[in-house]
Amino acid sequence: MYVVEMHKCQNCGFPLEMRLFSVSSNIGPGKINCVKCGEAANTGRMEWADMSSSNKSRFWLITLLYIFMLGLLTGNFIDQAYQLWNKDPVIVNLRYEAMPFQIFAVVGGIVAVLLQIYRIRDSARRSRRNSHKLTMSEFMLGIQWNLQFKCLVFLLAIWTVATIKNAAS
Ligand SMILES: [Zn+2]
Repeated sequence: MYVVEMHKCQNCGFPLEMRLFSVSSNIGPGKINCVKCGEAANTGRMEWADMSSSNKSRFWLITLLYIFMLGLLTGNFIDQAYQLWNKDPVIVNLRYEAMPFQIFAVVGGIVAVLLQIYRIRDSARRSRRNSHKLTMSEFMLGIQWNLQFKCLVFLLAIWTVATIKNAAS
């Protein structure tokens, strides 16, 4: 189901980023120091201030896609977790008509918008400082890098908790 593309450091091959569906909104510093070898690596990204209006339109188009994707995934993951938690005999995929699906699809969509707005502000902050050094904690826990992957891990964690609870009794 997922098409995954690895974006690697050009010097040492360390996987700097994983992009699902090979889609990225392309916001961020154009170069970062690789967290493994320390050399400057191209990211293929651009800061908000440097984007042309067509780049910005593309950013909002990708954001629309994120709203849809994160809404669908969040609604479905949480609804399945909800069914597992309640020990429903059959776990139904994509229960569009169910209340938990609908509520959390909206929540997922709103989170996608907030994340993208935060990234524009973060980008503006980086541009003002005119320098950017990536730290390991920012790489692991920040929301600029591997954001799609981190969202997916977060949803999987909720689903896993419900599965364990379901199996435990
Ligand atoms: Zn490297």
